[in-house]
Amino acid sequence: MTFKELNIIPPILNALQAQGYTNPTPIQQQAIPHVLAGKDLLGCAQTGTGKTAAFAIPILQLLDKLPPQKGRRTIKALIITPTRELAIQIEENFTAYAKKLNLKNTSIFGGVPQGKQTRILNGGVDILIATPGRLLDLIGQKFISLNDLKILVLDEADRMLDMGFIHDMKRILQLVPEKRQTLFFSATMPPEIQQLTNTILKDPAEVKVAPPSTTVEVIQQSLYYVDKKQKRNLLVHILQDESITRSLVFSRTKHGADRLARELTKKNISAAAIHGNKSQGARQKALKDFKDGRLRVLVATDIAARGIDIDELPHVINYELPDVPETYVHRIGRTGRAGADGIALSFCSAEEFGMLKDIQRLIGFKLPVVEEHPYPAQETVADVKEKKAANKGKPQQRRRPKPKNKPRNNNSGGNRERRNRN
Ligand code: AMP
Repeated sequence: MTFKELNIIPPILNALQAQGYTNPTPIQQQAIPHVLAGKDLLGCAQTGTGKTAAFAIPILQLLDKLPPQKGRRTIKALIITPTRELAIQIEENFTAYAKKLNLKNTSIFGGVPQGKQTRILNGGVDILIATPGRLLDLIGQKFISLNDLKILVLDEADRMLDMGFIHDMKRILQLVPEKRQTLFFSATMPPEIQQLTNTILKDPAEVKVAPPSTTVEVIQQSLYYVDKKQKRNLLVHILQDESITRSLVFSRTKHGADRLARELTKKNISAAAIHGNKSQGARQKALKDFKDGRLRVLVATDIAARGIDIDELPHVINYELPDVPETYVHRIGRTGRAGADGIALSFCSAEEFGMLKDIQRLIGFKLPVVEEHPYPAQETVADVKEKKAANKGKPQQRRRPKPKNKPRNNNSGGNRERRNRN
């Protein structure tokens, strides 16, 4: 399935290509046709599944079809989301996909002065992404009118409930036009959320992607405590086991992925890196070589790995832990597909203890630790803090100037991948 087969218009297709998206994720495949058909939607999906694009892409396409507006732009799509971080992330997604469209979006959230936000609103926007409190506040101050609203999205509804936004949500629902398309996303469906959907959605199409936690149980997972600087040696040591024929190794950054692939190759372990800065051709070649067994190791960043569909992938190695806990589940879900036994190894250095804690909280159990290995961790959290403090006073290394015409940096797991953890 391709985005083209989902009837996405060329300007959006181009933008998706620039983002390095090759194929729609399952939630996108399911949701986009319904949204384009104008239906209400009840989506049961977590962050990390590509759900933002599942609503952003068809919303942009629907709004692009509307006749051009005379005078100031008015808000035609409103996305309500629980946190500032999510609001920013969603805004970034809309901005990226709308590069070639004549549509404007912005985000508003609390905890910052409102001046900049209201100036943008006064200039007119088509798509508004908002957290509930600031939205109600600015509606109250008459900076926002929702009279022209056509599409309403409630994102992460269960989290909004957890965060005590249920009354705000209900108030907002009274302020939007009765005649509208409503898209509702929630990772879980507690009774209160179910009840809310019954009252606000009209004959919704229901789409659901398997909650990642169900895959977690069939995968053998283990954890190696290791210092950051010893991770490469540990990886080489593990890969000495010839029975590991194919492994997908996750790196948080593109440069890290490149470096690691080079170093493995030097050690006679056939490896290549894939990430958003590589051309489509280079990525496809690496993938084919990996599938055909010419490469033993594929080092990937999270986003590059999204499009990869490999049967019989027995090993996933988290060389670096992800800073979004759901990403861990997504990564290891690449192994152990369709009931096959998968194996996922994770390396954790002292810098990553916080991430590990979040991951273990999400999956609901402690990862079994491999104690016996040649590079046991020496550093403690206190050492890392001390090192950071010592480095703080030092002058920053000068960066090399960026080369011109560099492909867009869409793959490093930077802002896009950073999320709040509350
Ligand atoms: P989300 O679940 O919306 O938070 O998306 C998770 C991440 O997946 C984001 O970094 C998106 O940019 C990325 N993403 C969304 N759709 C695709 C796709 N079709 N192919 C590759 N990456 C995607």
